[in-house]
Amino acid sequence: MDFDLSQEQQEIHKLANEFADREIAPGARERDRAERFPWDVLKKMAPIGFLGGPIPEEYGGMGVDFISHAIITEAIGRADSSVRTTLSVQISLVEITILKFGTEEQKRTWLPRLCKGEVIGCFGLTEPAVGSDATRLQATAKRDGNDWILNGRKTWISNGSVAKLALVFANADPAKGHKGITAFLIDREKSPYRSQALHGKLGLRSSDSSELILDNVRVPDAMRLGPVGDGFKIAMAALDSGRYSVAAGAVGQAQAAIDASVAYATQRHAFGKPIAAHQLVQELIADMVVETEAARLLVYRAGHLKNKGVASTRETSIAKLYAGEIAQRACDNAIQIHGGYGFSDEFPVERLWRDARVNRLYEGTTQIQKLIIGRFATGIDAIG
Ligand SMILES: Cc1cc2nc3c(=O)[nH]c(=O)nc-3n(C[C@H](O)[C@H](O)[C@H](O)COP(=O)(O)OP(=O)(O)OC[C@H]3O[C@@H](n4cnc5c(N)ncnc54)[C@H](O)[C@@H]3O)c2cc1C
Repeated sequence: MDFDLSQEQQEIHKLANEFADREIAPGARERDRAERFPWDVLKKMAPIGFLGGPIPEEYGGMGVDFISHAIITEAIGRADSSVRTTLSVQISLVEITILKFGTEEQKRTWLPRLCKGEVIGCFGLTEPAVGSDATRLQATAKRDGNDWILNGRKTWISNGSVAKLALVFANADPAKGHKGITAFLIDREKSPYRSQALHGKLGLRSSDSSELILDNVRVPDAMRLGPVGDGFKIAMAALDSGRYSVAAGAVGQAQAAIDASVAYATQRHAFGKPIAAHQLVQELIADMVVETEAARLLVYRAGHLKNKGVASTRETSIAKLYAGEIAQRACDNAIQIHGGYGFSDEFPVERLWRDARVNRLYEGTTQIQKLIIGRFATGIDAIG
């Protein structure tokens, strides 16, 4: 077992963290206040390759391994989780899913444009009445000659209003239950649909979350992703990939909470000494450090399996569950260390705390991760 990063991974670590400190972190508070989508940041990330890290170079990506992918995602999550969410959807839910399940033509048409940021993608699984139990999707797809007619509503779709390409799941044969679910790529220019941005979010305010309104949207069969009826399988594979990215981003949030806390605790004085010199404050920081390092190792273990190309659903769920939970605790400790100042956006920790909450909800709630992990442990599928 080798715990050292390779030379290339170390270089990516330096590049990603310097970029995040220089180009992402400084504008995070203003974007959050204004609920402004980070177009400016994405434009700077694209030429470096960060919009297509793990995608092979022949399809326009950087071709980096999954540990490097986690390193980039952690660095971006450390600076701004709204940017990290946008990126997680772009790469892990959309690009990697097209790479895995797309035809050669679909890959050649869409991946280079997604990697360059010419096209932003979104992933439409969740519906107003259906989240965790994705087997019961209500959106429908009806065959009409060489096309499909899609109807339904999707909600909470990250990038939904800004995307030019939507990966959407709809049931082509409701009588077959989840075995009718089919995946479609929708080119918004050629198959227009409406979207409605959601406002008033607790966190991730500069990311876009939208409803997709699919009313008789005509999609050519050539835009179907994978076989008819394989959509549920494709969605679960996509979430496996997305959860890895969420976990890495959560480690970045926890690291940001540590960095902010150490900086504050070493300069703020109480009772005649820096608050960092009080043992109870050190305990808060030590807990954050231990849990963050453990979460990072869980992410790297899942990444190691992904690099080998073997199944990693169990390890990815463990990493996502743990990193999501500890990021919340770390951000909470950080507010405690900042005292009253932690309650204001003068310091980044209140945004970190608000942004961290969603890790326990999206891409499978904490309860759903526990059911997946429990299934591997017991052999009994509690949600099957
Ligand atoms: C900011 C944000 C961005 C998002 N981005 C996307 C996106 O890009 N694409 C997309 O498709 N979706 C997206 N989502 C949706 C997200 O994935 C869902 O909210 C999530 O899967 C939970 O579904 P739900 O909200 O319908 O909750 P429900 O499924 O209704 O669950 C409600 C509660 O019941 C619990 N519960 C449900 N079933 C069980 C069970 N069997 N056992 C124990 N507890 C259970 C859940 O854990 C949860 O606590 C996003 C959500 C948010 C908030």
